Amino acid sequence: MRKNIVAGNWKMNKTFPEGVEFVKELKLALENEKTNCDVVICTPYIHLAAAATILEVSAVGVGAENCADKEAGAYTGEVSAAMVASTGAKYVILGHSERRAYYGETAEILKEKVKLALANNLTPIFCIGEVLAEREAEKQNEVVYAQLAGSLFELSAADFSKIVLAYEPVWAIGTGKTATAQQAQDMHAYIRGVIAEQYGKEVADNTSILYGGSCNPSNAKELFSNPDVDGGLIGGACLKIADFKGVIAGFN
Ligand code: PEP
Repeated sequence: MRKNIVAGNWKMNKTFPEGVEFVKELKLALENEKTNCDVVICTPYIHLAAAATILEVSAVGVGAENCADKEAGAYTGEVSAAMVASTGAKYVILGHSERRAYYGETAEILKEKVKLALANNLTPIFCIGEVLAEREAEKQNEVVYAQLAGSLFELSAADFSKIVLAYEPVWAIGTGKTATAQQAQDMHAYIRGVIAEQYGKEVADNTSILYGGSCNPSNAKELFSNPDVDGGLIGGACLKIADFKGVIAGFN
């Protein structure tokens, strides 16, 4: 059966010493807690090796926030999936709306990134979601369908089964404006239906679909209690231990 997952996305926050201190504190904070979900932190590249080492014997997984769409070579400033994996990281966020909007990441580019992540045994946390104008025009389902089909549907069922999805309505990211529990459930059920059509019910039932967008300790429980919401991708509320713990407690 699919896993419940709470994954934090640090974005471009925390210097190296700040990151190390945070990871040590998080490890201590979660050590004696019974969590009813998998916990992952996705950090800037500079933190990955240290975070993976500190968290090696803990239940918290580590991931990157991106990886290159090329295997290796003369791509100044890029970090490959193999490099990410070599740090001990196990996950990588791909297709975040900020990458799509600010760095021109297209469906084709993301298709390559997904392939390389899987080839290096990283679990992609693949983000999809509509912008406000698309929601207002009631086009959210077709937008999300196109994002799934454009980057993922050439994968075999075995490879697709290794992916975690994150539905992140762009209008809810960092805005304090959360999707209602009903809006989240409706979209997650739609996504699961699309996966079932493409790969069959078993694959669909086993795919974890996270919600992302201003999820915090006060709304996590309601969002996570929806049958098709299998956890969250958390931005702002993952930067402080108490808030992140509060979101994780949404599964208690
Ligand atoms: C995100 O960036 O993935 C996100 C969900 O951010 P926030 O929780 O801050 O809305």
